[in-house]
Amino acid sequence: MKIVESTADIRERLKSHRGVSKIALAPTMGCLHEGHLSLIRKAREVADIIIVSIYVNPMQFGPNEDLDAYPHTFNADAAACEAEGVDYLFHPENLYAKGGPKVTLAVSELADCLCGKSRPGHFDGVATVVNILFNIIQPDVAVFGEKDWQQLSIIRRIVSDLHMPIEIAGAPTVRESDGLAMSSRNRYLESDERNVSKELRASLQAICDAYKDGETQASPLIASGRDWLEKHGIKPEYLEIREAANLASIDQLGGADARAFVAAKVGNARLIDNIALEPL
Ligand code: AMP
Repeated sequence: MKIVESTADIRERLKSHRGVSKIALAPTMGCLHEGHLSLIRKAREVADIIIVSIYVNPMQFGPNEDLDAYPHTFNADAAACEAEGVDYLFHPENLYAKGGPKVTLAVSELADCLCGKSRPGHFDGVATVVNILFNIIQPDVAVFGEKDWQQLSIIRRIVSDLHMPIEIAGAPTVRESDGLAMSSRNRYLESDERNVSKELRASLQAICDAYKDGETQASPLIASGRDWLEKHGIKPEYLEIREAANLASIDQLGGADARAFVAAKVGNARLIDNIALEPL
């Protein structure tokens, strides 16, 4: 595995692979865990040359968010990538123009709900950095996790709206044994908080179970999830059911694929999760 820090260098190295091998990119912010490694394994299934990028993107953090506290574990990350057979680890120091970018991507509608409501500008930051990474790497396929479903939906839409010749692959959420979705931010949790954080997933599972038992109206399903969270002392930032593909609001389930989405602050960690509510 080659660790590459400059844009010119990675471009040069990828030249020999273009048109010969299928190139996959898995963008990350580092502090890698099994969820990230699953993206690498997915990339390996569909491509020949695997690039992992590690870049903590300042543009996707709000002024009062955890940019400065965000964990950096580069040596362990590099060892994990090497063990997974990654070909190139792209680790740029900065991806933006001097003085900050003057051209950015703006995401409308899909970014106005769920996490976008409490994180204004977050998805513009994600979209802009992903666009930059796509322009540098020009992958055939890029892999993103379903844990960040809204992000995955937005990236699919960027690729489609901007006619990018890139296939987007989604990878299922990897979880701890008690159901908590793995996240770099889980390390902010104190032990009692870690214990209660599994209830996010449990609340989504309660919704899914009630749906499978025949409840197809969104509001009673959401109410049952809210009750679950309240019972465990969690006040959600949001708990919503939306269409899976376009994140549109939905009242009656059973037609289009839907998903339930939750976000909550547990201690210092802002946690998110989602679950599929597919037609039965
Ligand atoms: P991050 O480093 O948090 O920006 O995440 C980088 C990529 O890993 C994104 O595509 C995430 O959706 C994905 N990811 C993070 N956690 C998980 C998980 N538990 N399971 C699957 N993918 C994940």
